[in-house]
Amino acid sequence: MRPFTSTIPFADALKLALTATAPLSRTEHVDLRSADGRVVAHDVVSPLDVPPFDRAAMDGYAVRSQDFAGAATAGPLRCVGRVFTGEVLERALESGECIEIATGAPIPSGADAVIMVEDTDRRDALITFRAPVKPGQNIGRRAADIRIGDVVVSRGQVLTPSRIGALAATGHTSVEVLAKPSVAILSTGNEVVEPGQPLAPGQIYDINRFTLESVVRRHGGTAVPLPATGDSIDELKSMLDTASAHDLIVFSGGSSVGERDLVRDVITARGQMLFHGIAVKPGKPTAFARIGASLFLGMPGNPTSCLSNAYILLVPILRKLAGLPAWEPRTITVPLARRIVSTTDRHQFYTVRLVDGRAEPAFKGSGDITSMANADGYMEIPAATSSVEAGTMVTVTLF
Ligand code: AMP
Ligand code: MG
Repeated sequence: MRPFTSTIPFADALKLALTATAPLSRTEHVDLRSADGRVVAHDVVSPLDVPPFDRAAMDGYAVRSQDFAGAATAGPLRCVGRVFTGEVLERALESGECIEIATGAPIPSGADAVIMVEDTDRRDALITFRAPVKPGQNIGRRAADIRIGDVVVSRGQVLTPSRIGALAATGHTSVEVLAKPSVAILSTGNEVVEPGQPLAPGQIYDINRFTLESVVRRHGGTAVPLPATGDSIDELKSMLDTASAHDLIVFSGGSSVGERDLVRDVITARGQMLFHGIAVKPGKPTAFARIGASLFLGMPGNPTSCLSNAYILLVPILRKLAGLPAWEPRTITVPLARRIVSTTDRHQFYTVRLVDGRAEPAFKGSGDITSMANADGYMEIPAATSSVEAGTMVTVTLF
């Protein structure tokens, strides 16, 4: 055993990690259909006006407002044709004429207003109008939505359905976005077995690879799982070399201080350790390092410690790499249902379940995935606090 001689406060760990993290500059073109959630690499300008022509905003009749001469009603006007969407009427509208028009169809030349069909009466080709007319009414003007040269989406924006719609409106089929950080994920431990395989005595199924993969995908990364590795320096070094092709490397297990906890030795041999040991519970045995051009996070093997640190440390690092805005989880403030006794040497992330508007303690142990799976979020208990009484209003960060 080589016990931790010191740990650093979580806030310091996060700051060190974010300082060492630079957003990726690689970009790629993606089809609009797979652009949702991606980060725009460059401003995109519109090569055209949207809509590209004046168009009817209502089903009704296109008219010349002069024919109404300020009167509240007019007519009858002679209907000289129909114009549907996708058609352009060759002939101009003359005085005393109107044209039946569909929503979205181009306004014929000469016309300057559309009267909705509900305000008209029709007898054969003669139409009378029951409503006043103002020039321009019910006309969607060319470029009213987007003008040629307007910035449609700007660098750094996260693409959403509506922004993808604006790109489609301006004729784009693809968009240049920042590359997703590539994240190698590896579970260490002689006892760790892939789900689906039989379990021999002493073995357990790999949890962390799956929790980490899900977190990475949710926060803009491409997860690249590597095969689980035993507790041997040579195996770990060789997997680390493979993993170094990725922007971020996340190992779980072996990051503590036991004889078989070899991550520290491997990191020291291959890169520069930036910290090892954070004053949080769960999640103390966590390491962060630089390995060549890659960043390395060594997570505790205990599944709840690993996932908890994934939320509070991996997510901020990953989102910064990806050029995504910081994650702002929802919080709610509710009374605590039962008293909690807490350790005083570490800042604690304590999972709770929301039951009848109160926070029910859900934390079992760092090794129990149900500490997280059966919780709705977590409350934070500062290192100096030894207990929180039932009824205290607590702020819960929701998963
Ligand atoms: P370690 O951090 O390697 O000392 O592991 C701490 C505890 O977490 C041990 O009980 C391990 O068996 C367990 N553990 C380590 N890695 C995993 C994993 N990938 N999935 C589930 N449990 C794990
Ligand atoms: Mg282990």
